[in-house]
Amino acid sequence: MAKFKRLTYIDEIPQKWYNIKADLDELPPPPLNPATKKPLNPDDLKPIFPVSLIEQEATLERFIGIPDAVRNAYSIWRPSPLVYAANLREKLGLKAHIFYKYEGVSPTGSHKPNTAVAQAYYNKIEGVKKLTTETGAGQWGSALAFSGSLFDLHVKVFMVKVSYMQKPGRRIFIQSYGGEIVPSPSDQTPPGRKILEEDPDNPGSLGIAITEAVYEAVNDPEAKYSLGSVLDHVLMHQTVIGLEAIEQFKKLGVEPDILIGCVGGGSNFGGFVFPFIGEYLRGERKKVRAVAVEPTACPTLTKGKYDYDYGDTGKLTPMLKMFTLGHDFMPPSIHAGGLRYHGMSPLVSLLHRKGLVEARAYDQLEIFEAAIQFARAEGILPAPESAHAVKAAIDIAKEVDDEVVIAFNLSGHGYFDLSAYDAYLKGELK
Ligand SMILES: *Cc1c(COP(=O)(O)O)cnc(C)c1O
Repeated sequence: MAKFKRLTYIDEIPQKWYNIKADLDELPPPPLNPATKKPLNPDDLKPIFPVSLIEQEATLERFIGIPDAVRNAYSIWRPSPLVYAANLREKLGLKAHIFYKYEGVSPTGSHKPNTAVAQAYYNKIEGVKKLTTETGAGQWGSALAFSGSLFDLHVKVFMVKVSYMQKPGRRIFIQSYGGEIVPSPSDQTPPGRKILEEDPDNPGSLGIAITEAVYEAVNDPEAKYSLGSVLDHVLMHQTVIGLEAIEQFKKLGVEPDILIGCVGGGSNFGGFVFPFIGEYLRGERKKVRAVAVEPTACPTLTKGKYDYDYGDTGKLTPMLKMFTLGHDFMPPSIHAGGLRYHGMSPLVSLLHRKGLVEARAYDQLEIFEAAIQFARAEGILPAPESAHAVKAAIDIAKEVDDEVVIAFNLSGHGYFDLSAYDAYLKGELK
């Protein structure tokens, strides 16, 4: 350790991540090899991921120590604040109490660096030189590009084409960290070229971008692939959010009754709620309601089916047992790009099946209306993804009895999404 600590409150950053599999009486069914449809052999993942992350994906240990280098990176922005939304309560005349855990304080403005810095670190110590990945709204791409700059890795990002057009700021941001970025479908991989031949105006999707990024990692011996959500180890890294929140609530002497998060692949939601659900499963806490919020345009939990499916359009990834809309589902181009994913974390899916996680869906107009109410009370302009959680928090605060304590994860800020707010304010959004 250097002579100076980066922050006076670095000791408040958790020392360990939490693995909810240690406390479940039933585990998600195993991933399947896409070619054989037999349970995946961990060795099958070696061309894609470093060994330490493959081990984390499979482990049943309850707590995994956070390496010093990762905690030091976290100390740039962690612990993140837990805020009581007093102004929102007063302005909207709510009886229930709302808290929010604000992940927008990270360098790239969302929860995503919580796993990006960890993934970059493990790849670095295993000698990897280059990481490939996909990004929807650009949040994950910037988080990984930032992390690549910390650990000196080349990061190549395939960005869903519609978002690449809508959000030039994200491209510039990624390039500022030294990252390379191409719109997907691209002409740089055979699967991308095939899609462009058939449909030159294809707007892209996360499923297509994942296919391109995985293809490139598998075909370059110095490269690995990095995924920003869905997988068990990603959700585990994100539990730093919920573990911190538990300590922060303890200090306040408050026990939340209802926890809320938006869900794309499930990582900010799982990271926020799993530590609380784990305490409930171990008999250390009363039951909490956990509510996952998604767009009606991509209603994975509320309308999807629970089945084995591929993680990508090109069927390169292992098959996961999860709620899914189908690997070729093409969601409409809504502004919450981070929630346009056809699948869902197998862990969040299982907990939804078991009744430990509720789900609800909102449309785009409703969530921007809630986001504006929130901004005018609390000052923070939420990311369109996070606005789903804001909307649910406000709605649920009106549905429940007085004095109920609601906490939601404000997964990111919306300062790269001003054109979406512009469209909403001009009345152009549908
Ligand atoms: C990516 C993103 C999401 C959705 O991803 P999850 O893995 O479901 O958390 C939500 N909010 C923000 C701000 C994001 O960047």
